[in-house]
Amino acid sequence: MSKKVLIVGGVAGGASAAARLRRLDEEMEIIIFERGEHISYANCGLPYYVSGVIVERNALLVQTPAGMKERFDIDVRIHSEVTRIFPEQKEIEVKEANGHIYRESYDELILSPGAAPIRPPIPGINDIESFVVRNVSDIDQIKGYIDEQQPQTAVVVGGGFIGLEMAENLQARGVNTTIVEMGDQVMAPLDFEMAAILHEHIFTKGVNLILEDGVKAFDKKENKTILTLQSGEQIEADLTILAIGVKPEIKLAKEAGLTIGDLGGIKVNERLQTSDPNIYAVGDAIEVKHLITGQASLIPLAGPANKQGRIVADVIAGRNSQYKGTQGTSIAKIFDLAAASTGANEKTLKKLGIPYEVSYTHSASNAMYYPGATRLSLKLIFEKSAGRILGAQIVGSQGVDKRIDDIAGVIRRQGTIYDLQELELAYAPPFSSAKDPVNMAGYVAENIINGDVRTVHWYDVQKMNPKEVCIVDVRTIEERRGKFILGSLHIPIDELRNHLAELPKDKDIVVYCEIGLRGYLAYRILTQHGFTRVKSLSGGWVTYFPAVFS
Ligand code: FAD
Repeated sequence: MSKKVLIVGGVAGGASAAARLRRLDEEMEIIIFERGEHISYANCGLPYYVSGVIVERNALLVQTPAGMKERFDIDVRIHSEVTRIFPEQKEIEVKEANGHIYRESYDELILSPGAAPIRPPIPGINDIESFVVRNVSDIDQIKGYIDEQQPQTAVVVGGGFIGLEMAENLQARGVNTTIVEMGDQVMAPLDFEMAAILHEHIFTKGVNLILEDGVKAFDKKENKTILTLQSGEQIEADLTILAIGVKPEIKLAKEAGLTIGDLGGIKVNERLQTSDPNIYAVGDAIEVKHLITGQASLIPLAGPANKQGRIVADVIAGRNSQYKGTQGTSIAKIFDLAAASTGANEKTLKKLGIPYEVSYTHSASNAMYYPGATRLSLKLIFEKSAGRILGAQIVGSQGVDKRIDDIAGVIRRQGTIYDLQELELAYAPPFSSAKDPVNMAGYVAENIINGDVRTVHWYDVQKMNPKEVCIVDVRTIEERRGKFILGSLHIPIDELRNHLAELPKDKDIVVYCEIGLRGYLAYRILTQHGFTRVKSLSGGWVTYFPAVFS
């Protein structure tokens, strides 16, 4: 007899699982329960509807219950919240919006309830009107509020990708926006110095970015909200958006006695089975194995949720499919820049005590001589011994997506920096350079591994005393004007061989240039002239400046 499969949640993971199940089994009874009004909506597109970049509301609705019925013969029940699971009886309890409650039996149950926006218990949070961004109803409310109330000012609490996307789209609507972020940086998957590039950019777009200052209290004053920050600063806003992060929706699973992990997500095995063999879970609600660190992690992203939906359907249909882990490949548009990352970041590796090495490259997005080339800042993190790639982060305005995807593919196959060198990538001047930025990152990393250059990082130089270390700027006079490391000597690279006698052999020497290339050349010259205590500033001034001065 054919199975009866119930699915809780009808968006990324749930809808993917349902469609795949039907493709694999024409006979199976499949029912999706969705608490809200819509299924399969484009969560990721919601912020762009506020500004009108996405014009048609219907464009956000990728699939409808009627469409699911027609094409896949799937019974979709919207306004239907699953309120309990009875694992012993293999039944669930469903509450409809009209109050009607009933039970439904299952052979297999898939949970894809997602993650809910966090509403921290900050004093006054329940007394003010604030908005979160999770589903179409949320964005309808925000858009309706803007259309009717015409707010002049907004505060977005939280500098993650949802907060930044909202800030950009509010600003585009003419709402003067402030972002309040408790941490010292936006976009937590990036390391600080990469996020620092974004900080500068966000300021230039007129957004007031406040870092290292959380909200202490919310107060209502007439139609406005007053946010009092930990520092005592007060901000007045006509519109308040909470984008503080999300937490897995585990109430159902917990009450059903399913195992919950230490991070607060549902525990599953490689077959995405929970502690009850007939109950599966996917998406933002589960803890996944991080592909690099091997640690349990919460990584709420659409790609993994969709893939897990497909895999769980395979498993239920009797196929041998496994979910091997998440590497957290992600990208976000931050005004004119894109910020992307994959694998582990430096702060995580440091915390876990996993050894790593880092290189920075600031290549051009395409051939320098072709109009429109822009800078692409790439941080590569790798094992020093074998060169296995552990992670990468890229910030730039063009071609960020394809480069991060190249590296993500190599990471997925346990690849090394040598694999990056070997990648044969599509090239013509409008698109790339004959040595693509990804190849370049591989070459620079190899130089470090081979000992062809010894590097220091921006945070090392920040701590150095220029009296004890000889810091040499090898850029041109034009590049140095008004922007240099205090106390540094200036010897342009082309004059370096003529000034060797002025440099100390009994002191550490740090050479730096704009992006690291001439610093490397200077390193090669000096070490071949008997200077043994030389290091090159990795990523040069372009990495150092935003990290130290933003
Ligand atoms: P969801 O897609 O959230 O679906 C869960 C559904 O389950 C919800 O509709 C909910 O109503 C329903 N539900 C919950 N409990 C019950 C219940 N008891 N009964 C019935 N129904 C229930 N990811 C990216 O990779 N890239 C992006 O650019 C990106 N942008 C995003 C932008 C925004 C504004 C948001 C909110 C998310 C974004 N994400 C992005 C994250 C991505 O949308 C999620 O990772 C993905 O949707 C998770 O899929 P899911 O199936 O686990 O949960």
